[in-house]
Amino acid sequence: MSTETIRRIDRDILSTLYFSKEGSQFVEELVDGYGARFGGSDEERAASDFILERFKAMGVTRAWKQEFECLGWTRKETSLEVLSPQRMELDCIALPFCPPRYVEGRVVYLGDGDPQAYADNREALKGAIAMVNTATPQFYHRAMHRGEKLGRAVEAGAIGFIWMRGEPGGLPETGSARFNRACEVPAISVSFETGHEMLRLARKGELRVRIDSTNEIAPTKSYNVIGEITGVSRPEEVIVIGGHYDGHDINQSANDNGAGTAVVMEVARALSEHKELMARTIRFVAFAQEEMGLIGSDHYVQKHGDEKHMFMINTDGAGRGGKGTFALQGWSEATAYFKKLFGEMHESHVSVGDRISLYSDMYWFAAAGVPSATYTSAEPSSSAAPRGWGHTYWDTLDKLNPRAIQLDAVFLARLVARLATMPEIPVKHKTPGDFRAKLEEMGLLEVLKYELRAIPGEEQ
Ligand SMILES: [Zn+2]
Repeated sequence: MSTETIRRIDRDILSTLYFSKEGSQFVEELVDGYGARFGGSDEERAASDFILERFKAMGVTRAWKQEFECLGWTRKETSLEVLSPQRMELDCIALPFCPPRYVEGRVVYLGDGDPQAYADNREALKGAIAMVNTATPQFYHRAMHRGEKLGRAVEAGAIGFIWMRGEPGGLPETGSARFNRACEVPAISVSFETGHEMLRLARKGELRVRIDSTNEIAPTKSYNVIGEITGVSRPEEVIVIGGHYDGHDINQSANDNGAGTAVVMEVARALSEHKELMARTIRFVAFAQEEMGLIGSDHYVQKHGDEKHMFMINTDGAGRGGKGTFALQGWSEATAYFKKLFGEMHESHVSVGDRISLYSDMYWFAAAGVPSATYTSAEPSSSAAPRGWGHTYWDTLDKLNPRAIQLDAVFLARLVARLATMPEIPVKHKTPGDFRAKLEEMGLLEVLKYELRAIPGEEQ
């Protein structure tokens, strides 16, 4: 494609998106019309129809829903009672995939969950209830996800898990206990303040608690929603840009990931105006069931695994403002190329790096060897608890940053237009074995094992 043409596409993207309110209005309609969009719920299913109609209205080549079955979870009553050193009831919430179960035990507090804390408390954890806070471990070389902290506790023999939020505000923090499976032990969350109250009680005598949870776990159905611009000259080569539209059952999930879904929709809307210029096929995917364990994207990759996917960009965390980060998922050899490309696009403020994450929808693409990246943007934060309002009651529409949705949509539309039209994309595919080696190099294979997840390149 000539420089002239790409400049014209850029100009049209800017005029369509730069001052458009459609992105933020989309999030408003999503949260007001379809609530939490929790995986497998009626709200999530209704939201999938809403998104499908949007794709059709903007004039993509074709749009469809992709149904899949998986395990669903419904929140019921959960209580946390202190038995000693004095009796009292405390506020808590169950983490999704917490089973209906009743346990009593001693509480062992592991701080921010540094692996050393697990080693030091190995004996004490047997038959006990582990309590860990959400903060990133201060003395470890990488971040640790909730799933890993829980997995390490269960592996050590804990019979229950308490997830304590790492910053004040009176908020418990939700998030699935296990990925796409029922947790073996009851898993609940308490606020920073409740956690500290428990730690004060523990100084007065042995802290024993009773957790009683009554949730329901049963099969359910969910739907990925896909809009496609079919490529005119290389239709078999597919670029995917996608983000999850499902949310948590306790909030509006406005930023995580209403905003990221809006960015995908806006990119689709702008590029639909130039369908006839897109050499490769572009798929815009709103993934279902991410929060319950990347289930929708797993299904997409299984279903379309034999197609020629050239690049995948995930938008879980896009549209939030501040500085953008483009994180390749095990393709460090491509960082220089993207730095140069973003420089040419006058978007050199976007940080480019290579850091594999096991925790969003690009993971399954990368694990299948498809060059992948995740794009996020965020205002700077000094908090030790990295999620901000995310995964709490208050990830609500009032936190939305409409300007960030506009700017990220412009950037990603320009990037996808280039990926869909450049003569060759200079980033090579890997084998699942190559990707597995990368995970091993980074110490992430053991994390998958603690989390009871499949290892790339190995039979499940
Ligand atoms: Zn998310």
